[in-house]
Amino acid sequence: MERVLSLNEQDLEKYDVEKLAFDSMAVVESKGEEVIKEIKEAELLSRDGRKIFIGNYMEEVAKYTGSKEVVLHIGNSKLDNGLASSNTYHLVQGLVLSAKAVKASKVSIFINESHQLISRMLKLTIKQMGKMGYFKAKELKIDIIDVDEKNIFFNNDIALLTNYKENLSHGRYPFLEAKNTWQQSKLFIANVETLINISLIVENGSSWFKTMGEADNYGCKVFYVNNGQEGCLVTMELGSNFEELIKKASERINIPNLYAINVGGSLGGVLTEEQLKTTKIDYATSKKEGFLLGASPVEVIEDKKRLTELIVNSVQHNSQQSCGKCSTCREGLKRMGDLVPAVFEGERDKVKLVELFAKAIKDSSLCGFGNKAINPIMASLQHKE
Ligand code: SF4
Repeated sequence: MERVLSLNEQDLEKYDVEKLAFDSMAVVESKGEEVIKEIKEAELLSRDGRKIFIGNYMEEVAKYTGSKEVVLHIGNSKLDNGLASSNTYHLVQGLVLSAKAVKASKVSIFINESHQLISRMLKLTIKQMGKMGYFKAKELKIDIIDVDEKNIFFNNDIALLTNYKENLSHGRYPFLEAKNTWQQSKLFIANVETLINISLIVENGSSWFKTMGEADNYGCKVFYVNNGQEGCLVTMELGSNFEELIKKASERINIPNLYAINVGGSLGGVLTEEQLKTTKIDYATSKKEGFLLGASPVEVIEDKKRLTELIVNSVQHNSQQSCGKCSTCREGLKRMGDLVPAVFEGERDKVKLVELFAKAIKDSSLCGFGNKAINPIMASLQHKE
């Protein structure tokens, strides 16, 4: 899977889309059913924190007879941006293959307007692939929608904000430009890394994909690891551990002190230095430990002071991101934010209160955000000593 990191922005001029498109014309000629079959055989799990089998998700959306769209959001995540700019062709191919699989006639790519380079690269790639006859005889409309920063209500991974299960699918939409899409269509939402995986699996076959990782966790996961000042992308096979991840990252960035790491940003969890070796990079472990294997960064935390700071900031940030529809999420997160410092001081009554709020929010949230927003504070309970 190292190939997903094989290009960078400087290579744009050399980026031979014509050759890539020509080489894999056979791939794009695959029928929708064949795409689903290959993805199901690969047992690809979404790389956005939802831990859903993409083949099953495709199959379910394909059955729907009304209007359908494939949706991608490229936000501010360094991982999304690094992968999108270095794998533009495979990203577009992943979108086209997904549209075929779910029988959607439209692809919408929402991209923060500050990322003009990626937006231009995508437009260029789509144009060149179109010239090669890539979209011939396929009635597929691809829109690239630059999202105005001030219209982004919720900047977390949009895949988390909805859910392919109907009962959670309309918790909220993340930005104004998406309002109609969210209300009128059945959506197939995937993030950058998932779409690149879809493209590579169809191109190389599910058996190639299954040579990486281990049973129930095939393939690789890409991380953006940072130390507060600098960061790098690191690709790990699923089934390896976090100590190996940090070792690989330290060959590229400076990591002088390590007290803990935050995995999954403001919706993620915390692992202490002692836990790194014994914590596997896989989806069952991430669920158990309450962190996300999504597009958010892995941050190296140098001491306890920084850990407290990070958790307080995460909880406050999440409280501002609540859309307010569910009272438990709206009010509960706010109250929890005020309690974090007391929790770190070990005030037992406050700890009890936090646990009560967490349970109420988890049990009554309408969308995936409320469920995940309690992760950092639960980590603070675990690491308060
Ligand atoms: S859980 Fe939070 S973010 Fe999600 S719909 Fe309810 S209030 Fe909105």
